[in-house]
Amino acid sequence: MNLGKCPLCGGTTNTESVDITESLGGKIVLIKDIKAEVCSQCGERLYSSSEIKKIEVLLHKVKQGTIKPKETRQAEVYLA
Ligand SMILES: [Zn+2]
Repeated sequence: MNLGKCPLCGGTTNTESVDITESLGGKIVLIKDIKAEVCSQCGERLYSSSEIKKIEVLLHKVKQGTIKPKETRQAEVYLA
């Protein structure tokens, strides 16, 4: 996927590897190296359907406990 243009603000987008955090049953799961189009103007991230599928499959495996984390980090939680 290469839109080249942000649908929100019309800014230019660049393909980048980003990290995604998901809250899963009380724990924070970090998925690294997801390809996204990042808007240089507003920072909006756009994911292709194949990357979204990848995230869904990964999170499903995490829920099922069929994959092991590459590393475990501690997360600090703050109330807004
Ligand atoms: Zn934008």
